[in-house]
Amino acid sequence: MKEQSYAEQLREELTYKPKHGGAAMSEDEIKRADEFCEDYKDFLNTAKTEREAVIEAVKLAEIAGFVPFEKGKVYTAGQKVYKVNRGKAVILAVIGSKPLSEGVRLAIAHIDSPRLDLKPNPLYEADELALFKTHYYGGIKKYQWTTIPLSMHGVVCLKNGEKIEVRVGEDEGDPQFCVTDVLPHLGTEQAKKPLGTAIPAENLNILIGSRPIADDKGGDLVKLNVLKILNEKYGIVESDFLSSEIEFVPAAKARDLGFDRSMIGAYGHDDRVCAYPALMAALTCNAPEHTAVTILTDKEETGSDGNTGLNSAYMKYFIYDLAEMQGFSGRDVLSASECLSADVNAAFDPTYADVYEKRNSCYLNKGVCITKYTGSRGKGGTSDASAEYMSRVRTLLDRKNVLWQIGELGKVDAGGGGTVAKYVSNLDVETVDLGVPVLSMHAPWEVVAKIDVYMAYRAFYEFFLD
Ligand code: MN
Ligand code: MN
Repeated sequence: MKEQSYAEQLREELTYKPKHGGAAMSEDEIKRADEFCEDYKDFLNTAKTEREAVIEAVKLAEIAGFVPFEKGKVYTAGQKVYKVNRGKAVILAVIGSKPLSEGVRLAIAHIDSPRLDLKPNPLYEADELALFKTHYYGGIKKYQWTTIPLSMHGVVCLKNGEKIEVRVGEDEGDPQFCVTDVLPHLGTEQAKKPLGTAIPAENLNILIGSRPIADDKGGDLVKLNVLKILNEKYGIVESDFLSSEIEFVPAAKARDLGFDRSMIGAYGHDDRVCAYPALMAALTCNAPEHTAVTILTDKEETGSDGNTGLNSAYMKYFIYDLAEMQGFSGRDVLSASECLSADVNAAFDPTYADVYEKRNSCYLNKGVCITKYTGSRGKGGTSDASAEYMSRVRTLLDRKNVLWQIGELGKVDAGGGGTVAKYVSNLDVETVDLGVPVLSMHAPWEVVAKIDVYMAYRAFYEFFLD
Protein backbone atom coordinates (compact mmCIF):
# COMPACT_ATOMS: atom_id res chain seq x y z
CA MET A 1 0.00 0.00 0.00
CA LYS A 2 1.19 3.49 -0.85
CA GLU A 3 2.28 5.51 2.16
CA GLN A 4 0.02 8.43 3.02
CA SER A 5 1.38 11.96 2.95
CA TYR A 6 0.95 14.13 6.06
CA ALA A 7 -1.87 16.05 4.42
CA GLU A 8 -3.61 12.86 3.34
CA GLN A 9 -3.33 11.53 6.87
CA LEU A 10 -4.76 14.69 8.39
CA ARG A 11 -7.49 14.83 5.78
CA GLU A 12 -8.62 11.35 6.67
CA GLU A 13 -8.48 11.98 10.40
CA LEU A 14 -9.95 15.46 10.54
CA THR A 15 -12.29 16.15 7.65
CA TYR A 16 -15.86 15.04 7.00
CA LYS A 17 -16.52 13.53 3.61
CA PRO A 18 -19.42 11.12 3.08
CA LYS A 19 -18.49 8.18 0.88
CA HIS A 20 -20.26 6.84 -2.20
CA GLY A 21 -21.86 3.49 -1.47
CA GLY A 22 -20.25 2.03 -4.56
CA ALA A 23 -16.85 2.54 -2.91
CA ALA A 24 -17.82 2.05 0.74
CA MET A 25 -19.86 -1.13 0.38
CA SER A 26 -18.82 -4.69 -0.44
CA GLU A 27 -20.09 -6.32 -3.62
CA ASP A 28 -22.20 -8.64 -1.48
CA GLU A 29 -23.85 -5.80 0.34
CA ILE A 30 -24.65 -3.98 -2.89
CA LYS A 31 -26.23 -7.20 -4.11
CA ARG A 32 -28.34 -7.36 -0.97
CA ALA A 33 -29.43 -3.77 -1.60
CA ASP A 34 -30.48 -4.65 -5.16
CA GLU A 35 -32.44 -7.67 -3.92
CA PHE A 36 -34.16 -5.64 -1.22
CA CYS A 37 -35.30 -3.22 -3.90
CA GLU A 38 -36.94 -5.93 -6.01
CA ASP A 39 -39.52 -6.35 -3.25
CA TYR A 40 -39.71 -2.60 -2.77
CA LYS A 41 -40.72 -2.19 -6.43
CA ASP A 42 -43.49 -4.75 -5.95
CA PHE A 43 -44.71 -2.82 -2.92
CA LEU A 44 -44.72 0.44 -4.94
CA ASN A 45 -46.84 -1.15 -7.66
CA THR A 46 -49.27 -2.80 -5.25
CA ALA A 47 -49.61 0.05 -2.76
CA LYS A 48 -50.04 3.29 -4.68
CA THR A 49 -52.28 5.03 -2.14
CA GLU A 50 -52.42 5.23 1.66
CA ARG A 51 -55.35 2.80 1.78
CA GLU A 52 -53.58 0.29 -0.46
CA ALA A 53 -50.36 0.69 1.54
CA VAL A 54 -52.23 -0.14 4.77
CA ILE A 55 -53.78 -3.24 3.21
CA GLU A 56 -50.39 -4.42 1.91
CA ALA A 57 -48.58 -3.62 5.17
CA VAL A 58 -51.16 -5.59 7.19
CA LYS A 59 -50.92 -8.50 4.77
CA LEU A 60 -47.13 -8.65 5.13
CA ALA A 61 -47.32 -8.08 8.90
CA GLU A 62 -49.78 -10.93 9.43
CA ILE A 63 -47.49 -13.28 7.50
CA ALA A 64 -44.72 -12.18 9.91
CA GLY A 65 -46.86 -13.04 12.93
CA PHE A 66 -48.46 -9.68 13.80
CA VAL A 67 -51.98 -9.78 15.27
CA PRO A 68 -54.57 -7.00 15.74
CA PHE A 69 -53.89 -5.00 18.93
CA GLU A 70 -56.53 -5.33 21.63
CA LYS A 71 -56.65 -2.57 24.20
CA GLY A 72 -56.54 -3.97 27.73
CA LYS A 73 -54.84 -7.21 26.73
CA VAL A 74 -51.37 -7.85 28.18
CA TYR A 75 -48.69 -8.56 25.59
CA THR A 76 -45.30 -9.95 26.48
CA ALA A 77 -41.80 -9.49 25.02
CA GLY A 78 -41.52 -10.57 21.41
CA GLN A 79 -45.24 -10.36 20.67
CA LYS A 80 -46.17 -8.42 17.55
CA VAL A 81 -49.29 -6.31 17.18
CA TYR A 82 -50.78 -3.85 14.72
CA LYS A 83 -53.57 -1.31 14.79
CA VAL A 84 -55.18 0.18 11.70
CA ASN A 85 -56.48 3.73 11.91
CA ARG A 86 -59.54 4.12 9.65
CA GLY A 87 -57.93 2.18 6.80
CA LYS A 88 -55.46 5.00 6.10
CA ALA A 89 -52.74 4.64 8.70
CA VAL A 90 -51.29 1.70 10.59
CA ILE A 91 -49.20 1.27 13.74
CA LEU A 92 -47.07 -1.85 14.22
CA ALA A 93 -45.40 -2.71 17.49
CA VAL A 94 -42.97 -5.41 18.56
CA ILE A 95 -43.07 -5.63 22.34
CA GLY A 96 -39.60 -5.25 23.89
CA SER A 97 -38.03 -7.07 26.80
CA LYS A 98 -37.44 -3.83 28.72
CA PRO A 99 -40.32 -2.15 30.55
CA LEU A 100 -42.14 0.53 28.58
CA SER A 101 -41.03 3.09 31.18
CA GLU A 102 -37.68 2.99 29.36
CA GLY A 103 -39.40 4.35 26.27
CA VAL A 104 -40.21 3.02 22.82
CA ARG A 105 -38.29 3.31 19.56
CA LEU A 106 -40.42 5.00 16.93
CA ALA A 107 -39.96 4.95 13.15
CA ILE A 108 -42.61 7.04 11.42
CA ALA A 109 -43.09 7.37 7.68
CA HIS A 110 -46.04 8.56 5.61
CA ILE A 111 -47.92 6.63 2.96
CA ASP A 112 -49.88 9.43 1.29
CA SER A 113 -48.35 11.02 -1.81
CA PRO A 114 -49.16 14.05 -3.99
CA ARG A 115 -51.94 13.28 -6.48
CA LEU A 116 -55.23 14.49 -7.98
CA ASP A 117 -58.31 13.93 -5.79
CA LEU A 118 -61.82 14.04 -7.22
CA LYS A 119 -64.05 16.91 -6.11
CA PRO A 120 -67.27 15.90 -4.29
CA ASN A 121 -69.35 16.54 -7.43
CA PRO A 122 -66.78 15.71 -10.10
CA LEU A 123 -68.58 14.42 -13.19
CA TYR A 124 -69.57 16.70 -16.07
CA GLU A 125 -69.83 16.82 -19.82
CA ALA A 126 -68.43 19.57 -22.02
CA ASP A 127 -68.74 19.52 -25.80
CA GLU A 128 -69.37 15.77 -25.93
CA LEU A 129 -66.45 14.90 -23.67
CA ALA A 130 -66.95 13.50 -20.16
CA LEU A 131 -64.58 14.81 -17.51
CA PHE A 132 -63.85 14.71 -13.77
CA LYS A 133 -63.14 17.87 -11.77
CA THR A 134 -60.18 17.45 -9.39
CA HIS A 135 -58.62 19.17 -6.42
CA TYR A 136 -54.91 18.44 -6.22
CA TYR A 137 -53.56 16.91 -3.01
CA GLY A 138 -50.18 18.01 -1.68
CA GLY A 139 -47.52 20.11 -3.36
CA ILE A 140 -47.47 19.50 -7.10
CA LYS A 141 -46.08 21.31 -10.11
CA LYS A 142 -49.32 21.27 -12.08
CA TYR A 143 -47.80 21.19 -15.55
CA GLN A 144 -46.20 17.82 -14.70
CA TRP A 145 -49.63 16.20 -14.31
CA THR A 146 -50.94 16.86 -17.80
CA THR A 147 -50.74 14.29 -20.63
CA ILE A 148 -49.45 11.42 -18.50
CA PRO A 149 -51.37 8.15 -18.06
CA LEU A 150 -53.34 8.18 -14.80
CA SER A 151 -55.04 5.41 -12.86
CA MET A 152 -58.00 5.69 -10.50
CA HIS A 153 -57.90 4.39 -6.91
CA GLY A 154 -60.12 4.71 -3.88
CA VAL A 155 -63.40 3.95 -2.23
CA VAL A 156 -67.01 4.93 -2.79
CA CYS A 157 -69.49 4.60 0.08
CA LEU A 158 -72.95 3.91 -1.32
CA LYS A 159 -76.21 5.05 0.23
CA ASN A 160 -76.95 1.50 1.37
CA GLY A 161 -73.80 1.51 3.52
CA GLU A 162 -71.77 -0.64 1.18
CA LYS A 163 -68.15 0.40 0.56
CA ILE A 164 -66.92 -0.16 -3.00
CA GLU A 165 -63.20 -0.31 -3.72
CA VAL A 166 -62.10 0.92 -7.12
CA ARG A 167 -58.78 0.47 -8.89
CA VAL A 168 -58.77 1.12 -12.64
CA GLY A 169 -55.78 1.59 -14.90
CA GLU A 170 -53.20 -0.63 -13.21
CA ASP A 171 -53.92 -4.04 -14.73
CA GLU A 172 -52.86 -4.91 -18.26
CA GLY A 173 -55.81 -4.14 -20.52
CA ASP A 174 -57.43 -1.64 -18.10
CA PRO A 175 -58.39 1.73 -19.56
CA GLN A 176 -56.38 4.71 -18.29
CA PHE A 177 -57.10 8.43 -18.02
CA CYS A 178 -55.35 11.78 -18.51
CA VAL A 179 -55.44 15.53 -18.15
CA THR A 180 -55.16 17.20 -21.57
CA ASP A 181 -52.94 20.15 -22.48
CA VAL A 182 -52.97 22.70 -25.28
CA LEU A 183 -50.91 21.84 -28.36
CA PRO A 184 -47.67 23.84 -28.92
CA HIS A 185 -49.06 25.19 -32.20
CA LEU A 186 -51.71 27.08 -30.22
CA GLY A 187 -49.71 27.50 -27.03
CA THR A 188 -48.20 30.90 -27.79
CA GLU A 189 -50.02 32.68 -24.95
CA GLN A 190 -49.62 29.78 -22.51
CA ALA A 191 -45.87 29.66 -23.18
CA LYS A 192 -45.50 33.27 -22.02
CA LYS A 193 -46.87 32.44 -18.56
CA PRO A 194 -44.70 31.48 -15.57
CA LEU A 195 -44.63 27.71 -14.89
CA GLY A 196 -46.68 28.09 -11.72
CA THR A 197 -49.63 29.70 -13.48
CA ALA A 198 -49.48 28.20 -16.98
CA ILE A 199 -51.73 25.31 -15.91
CA PRO A 200 -54.44 26.63 -13.54
CA ALA A 201 -55.69 24.14 -10.94
CA GLU A 202 -59.17 24.24 -12.49
CA ASN A 203 -57.65 22.95 -15.74
CA LEU A 204 -56.65 19.69 -14.08
CA ASN A 205 -59.75 17.97 -15.44
CA ILE A 206 -59.52 14.27 -16.19
CA LEU A 207 -60.78 12.94 -19.50
CA ILE A 208 -62.93 9.86 -18.88
CA GLY A 209 -65.24 9.34 -21.87
CA SER A 210 -66.37 10.51 -25.31
CA ARG A 211 -69.13 8.16 -26.52
CA PRO A 212 -72.83 9.00 -25.94
CA ILE A 213 -75.60 6.56 -25.09
CA ALA A 214 -77.68 5.64 -28.14
CA ASP A 215 -80.46 8.19 -27.73
CA ASP A 216 -80.70 11.74 -28.98
CA LYS A 217 -83.14 13.06 -26.36
CA GLY A 218 -81.78 15.66 -23.95
CA GLY A 219 -78.18 16.61 -23.28
CA ASP A 220 -75.16 15.15 -21.48
CA LEU A 221 -75.43 11.80 -23.28
CA VAL A 222 -71.69 11.10 -22.90
CA LYS A 223 -71.84 11.78 -19.17
CA LEU A 224 -74.92 9.56 -18.93
CA ASN A 225 -73.04 6.77 -20.67
CA VAL A 226 -70.16 7.03 -18.16
CA LEU A 227 -72.68 6.95 -15.28
CA LYS A 228 -74.32 3.89 -16.84
CA ILE A 229 -70.96 2.09 -17.06
CA LEU A 230 -70.07 3.00 -13.46
CA ASN A 231 -73.52 1.94 -12.29
CA GLU A 232 -73.28 -1.42 -14.03
CA LYS A 233 -69.80 -2.11 -12.69
CA TYR A 234 -70.00 -0.67 -9.15
CA GLY A 235 -73.63 0.20 -8.43
CA ILE A 236 -72.67 3.88 -8.19
CA VAL A 237 -75.06 6.78 -8.88
CA GLU A 238 -73.84 10.35 -9.28
CA SER A 239 -74.59 11.44 -5.70
CA ASP A 240 -72.38 8.62 -4.36
CA PHE A 241 -69.31 10.66 -5.34
CA LEU A 242 -70.23 12.91 -2.41
CA SER A 243 -69.25 10.07 -0.09
CA SER A 244 -66.16 8.84 -1.91
CA GLU A 245 -62.41 9.25 -1.80
CA ILE A 246 -61.12 8.81 -5.33
CA GLU A 247 -57.48 9.53 -6.11
CA PHE A 248 -55.88 9.70 -9.54
CA VAL A 249 -52.22 8.76 -9.54
CA PRO A 250 -49.64 8.17 -12.27
CA ALA A 251 -50.29 4.78 -13.87
CA ALA A 252 -46.59 4.12 -14.52
CA LYS A 253 -44.99 1.15 -12.80
CA ALA A 254 -41.77 1.27 -10.79
CA ARG A 255 -38.77 0.48 -13.01
CA ASP A 256 -35.03 0.18 -12.73
CA LEU A 257 -33.45 3.39 -13.92
CA GLY A 258 -30.10 3.77 -15.67
CA PHE A 259 -27.92 1.36 -17.66
CA ASP A 260 -26.36 0.24 -14.39
CA ARG A 261 -29.81 -0.29 -12.81
CA SER A 262 -28.58 1.59 -9.74
CA MET A 263 -31.74 3.65 -9.36
CA ILE A 264 -35.52 3.22 -9.32
CA GLY A 265 -37.98 5.50 -11.08
CA ALA A 266 -41.51 5.43 -9.62
CA TYR A 267 -44.51 7.38 -8.45
CA GLY A 268 -44.65 8.09 -4.71
CA HIS A 269 -41.16 7.27 -3.43
CA ASP A 270 -42.03 10.15 -1.08
CA ASP A 271 -42.56 8.57 1.31
CA ARG A 272 -43.00 4.89 0.60
CA VAL A 273 -39.23 4.73 0.14
CA CYS A 274 -39.06 5.20 3.92
CA ALA A 275 -42.36 3.47 4.75
CA TYR A 276 -41.33 0.19 3.13
CA PRO A 277 -37.89 -0.04 4.81
CA ALA A 278 -39.48 0.94 8.16
CA LEU A 279 -42.13 -1.75 7.67
CA MET A 280 -39.46 -4.32 6.80
CA ALA A 281 -37.47 -3.34 9.90
CA ALA A 282 -40.61 -3.88 12.00
CA LEU A 283 -41.18 -7.28 10.41
CA THR A 284 -37.61 -8.50 10.86
CA CYS A 285 -36.53 -7.04 14.23
CA ASN A 286 -37.20 -10.02 16.46
CA ALA A 287 -36.88 -9.63 20.22
CA PRO A 288 -35.91 -5.97 20.60
CA GLU A 289 -35.09 -4.64 24.08
CA HIS A 290 -37.11 -1.47 23.63
CA THR A 291 -40.59 -1.84 22.20
CA ALA A 292 -40.27 -1.03 18.48
CA VAL A 293 -43.13 1.01 17.08
CA THR A 294 -43.50 1.66 13.35
CA ILE A 295 -46.14 4.11 12.17
CA LEU A 296 -47.21 4.47 8.56
CA THR A 297 -49.26 7.63 8.60
CA ASP A 298 -51.60 9.55 6.33
CA LYS A 299 -52.05 13.26 5.51
CA GLU A 300 -48.39 14.33 5.75
CA GLU A 301 -48.56 15.96 2.34
CA THR A 302 -51.38 18.26 3.47
CA GLY A 303 -49.87 19.16 6.82
CA SER A 304 -50.68 16.11 9.00
CA ASP A 305 -54.06 17.43 10.17
CA GLY A 306 -57.12 15.21 10.50
CA ASN A 307 -57.62 12.02 12.49
CA THR A 308 -55.38 9.92 10.27
CA GLY A 309 -52.58 12.51 10.30
CA LEU A 310 -49.82 12.67 12.87
CA ASN A 311 -50.92 16.04 14.20
CA SER A 312 -53.86 14.18 15.75
CA ALA A 313 -53.86 12.13 18.94
CA TYR A 314 -53.94 8.67 17.40
CA MET A 315 -50.27 7.93 17.98
CA LYS A 316 -50.36 9.31 21.52
CA TYR A 317 -53.45 7.23 22.33
CA PHE A 318 -51.71 4.08 21.14
CA ILE A 319 -48.65 4.76 23.29
CA TYR A 320 -50.97 5.48 26.24
CA ASP A 321 -52.72 2.14 25.66
CA LEU A 322 -49.35 0.37 25.61
CA ALA A 323 -48.25 2.17 28.78
CA GLU A 324 -51.46 1.27 30.61
CA MET A 325 -50.86 -2.38 29.81
CA GLN A 326 -47.75 -2.30 32.04
CA GLY A 327 -49.15 0.14 34.57
CA PHE A 328 -47.13 3.19 33.48
CA SER A 329 -48.35 6.63 32.57
CA GLY A 330 -48.35 7.39 28.85
CA ARG A 331 -46.50 10.65 29.23
CA ASP A 332 -43.59 8.94 31.00
CA VAL A 333 -43.29 6.45 28.15
CA LEU A 334 -43.30 9.27 25.58
CA SER A 335 -40.72 11.30 27.49
CA ALA A 336 -38.33 8.34 27.51
CA SER A 337 -38.86 7.53 23.81
CA GLU A 338 -36.76 8.15 20.71
CA CYS A 339 -37.95 8.64 17.14
CA LEU A 340 -36.60 8.49 13.64
CA SER A 341 -38.98 10.59 11.60
CA ALA A 342 -38.59 8.72 8.35
CA ASP A 343 -39.03 11.05 5.41
CA VAL A 344 -37.22 11.83 2.20
CA ASN A 345 -34.91 14.73 1.49
CA ALA A 346 -34.02 16.45 -1.80
CA ALA A 347 -31.00 14.84 -3.43
CA PHE A 348 -28.52 17.21 -5.07
CA ASP A 349 -29.35 17.61 -8.74
CA PRO A 350 -26.47 18.93 -10.90
CA THR A 351 -28.96 20.19 -13.47
CA TYR A 352 -30.55 22.48 -10.86
CA ALA A 353 -27.46 23.06 -8.75
CA ASP A 354 -28.37 26.67 -8.02
CA VAL A 355 -31.16 25.78 -5.55
CA TYR A 356 -28.86 23.60 -3.45
CA GLU A 357 -25.99 24.38 -1.12
CA LYS A 358 -23.46 21.75 -2.05
CA ARG A 359 -21.77 21.29 1.31
CA ASN A 360 -25.04 20.60 3.12
CA SER A 361 -27.01 18.67 0.52
CA CYS A 362 -27.55 14.95 0.39
CA TYR A 363 -26.60 12.92 -2.67
CA LEU A 364 -27.81 9.75 -4.34
CA ASN A 365 -25.83 6.67 -3.25
CA LYS A 366 -24.20 8.19 -0.17
CA GLY A 367 -26.58 6.42 2.14
CA VAL A 368 -29.47 7.33 4.35
CA CYS A 369 -29.76 11.06 5.06
CA ILE A 370 -29.99 12.59 8.54
CA THR A 371 -31.79 15.94 8.45
CA LYS A 372 -31.24 17.91 11.66
CA TYR A 373 -33.95 20.43 10.85
CA THR A 374 -36.47 21.18 8.12
CA GLY A 375 -38.73 24.26 7.95
CA SER A 376 -38.26 27.54 6.10
CA ARG A 377 -37.36 31.21 6.63
CA GLY A 378 -34.95 30.94 9.54
CA LYS A 379 -35.87 27.43 10.74
CA GLY A 380 -39.55 28.33 11.03
CA GLY A 381 -41.75 25.28 11.67
CA THR A 382 -39.11 22.74 12.57
CA SER A 383 -38.31 20.78 15.71
CA ASP A 384 -34.52 20.95 15.08
CA ALA A 385 -32.94 17.86 16.66
CA SER A 386 -30.52 18.46 19.51
CA ALA A 387 -26.74 18.04 19.19
CA GLU A 388 -27.03 15.28 21.78
CA TYR A 389 -29.56 13.29 19.78
CA MET A 390 -27.69 13.88 16.50
CA SER A 391 -24.65 12.43 18.22
CA ARG A 392 -26.64 9.45 19.48
CA VAL A 393 -27.94 8.64 15.99
CA ARG A 394 -24.73 9.13 14.02
CA THR A 395 -22.75 7.13 16.54
CA LEU A 396 -25.25 4.29 16.27
CA LEU A 397 -25.12 4.28 12.45
CA ASP A 398 -21.31 4.30 12.45
CA ARG A 399 -21.18 1.50 15.00
CA LYS A 400 -23.47 -0.64 12.82
CA ASN A 401 -21.76 0.26 9.52
CA VAL A 402 -24.84 1.94 8.09
CA LEU A 403 -23.87 4.32 5.29
CA TRP A 404 -25.25 7.78 6.10
CA GLN A 405 -24.88 11.43 5.21
CA ILE A 406 -26.37 14.71 6.35
CA GLY A 407 -28.64 16.87 4.25
CA GLU A 408 -30.46 20.16 4.38
CA LEU A 409 -33.41 20.85 2.07
CA GLY A 410 -31.78 23.18 -0.45
CA LYS A 411 -30.37 26.67 -0.04
CA VAL A 412 -31.54 28.84 2.85
CA ASP A 413 -34.56 30.85 1.68
CA ALA A 414 -34.84 28.90 -1.59
CA GLY A 415 -38.09 27.47 -0.24
CA GLY A 416 -38.44 24.82 2.42
CA GLY A 417 -40.70 22.14 3.76
CA GLY A 418 -41.61 20.13 6.81
CA THR A 419 -42.20 16.59 8.00
CA VAL A 420 -44.03 14.89 10.87
CA ALA A 421 -40.93 15.29 13.09
CA LYS A 422 -42.26 18.33 14.93
CA TYR A 423 -45.52 16.63 15.90
CA VAL A 424 -43.59 13.78 17.53
CA SER A 425 -41.03 16.08 19.08
CA ASN A 426 -43.83 18.22 20.53
CA LEU A 427 -44.86 15.18 22.58
CA ASP A 428 -41.49 15.36 24.37
CA VAL A 429 -39.92 12.61 22.25
CA GLU A 430 -36.29 12.83 21.01
CA THR A 431 -36.77 13.11 17.25
CA VAL A 432 -34.69 13.55 14.12
CA ASP A 433 -35.48 13.17 10.44
CA LEU A 434 -33.79 10.29 8.67
CA GLY A 435 -34.66 9.12 5.17
CA VAL A 436 -33.78 8.56 1.56
CA PRO A 437 -32.51 11.21 -0.91
CA VAL A 438 -34.91 11.71 -3.86
CA LEU A 439 -34.51 13.40 -7.25
CA SER A 440 -37.56 15.18 -8.75
CA MET A 441 -39.45 14.99 -5.45
CA HIS A 442 -43.25 15.25 -5.82
CA ALA A 443 -43.07 14.70 -9.59
CA PRO A 444 -45.17 11.91 -11.11
CA TRP A 445 -41.97 9.90 -11.47
CA GLU A 446 -39.41 10.32 -8.69
CA VAL A 447 -35.91 8.83 -8.55
CA VAL A 448 -34.02 7.13 -5.71
CA ALA A 449 -30.83 5.05 -5.51
CA LYS A 450 -31.13 1.42 -4.45
CA ILE A 451 -28.20 1.64 -2.03
CA ASP A 452 -29.94 4.41 -0.10
CA VAL A 453 -33.21 2.46 0.16
CA TYR A 454 -31.38 -0.49 1.66
CA MET A 455 -29.45 1.75 4.06
CA ALA A 456 -32.76 3.20 5.28
CA TYR A 457 -33.87 -0.34 6.14
CA ARG A 458 -30.60 -1.03 7.93
CA ALA A 459 -30.86 2.23 9.88
CA PHE A 460 -34.38 1.50 11.18
CA TYR A 461 -33.48 -2.11 11.94
CA GLU A 462 -30.37 -1.22 13.96
CA PHE A 463 -32.25 1.60 15.71
CA PHE A 464 -34.94 -0.84 16.82
CA LEU A 465 -32.41 -3.35 18.12
CA ASP A 466 -30.02 -0.90 19.76
MN1 MN B 1 -42.45 13.14 2.64
MN1 MN C 1 -43.64 15.18 0.31
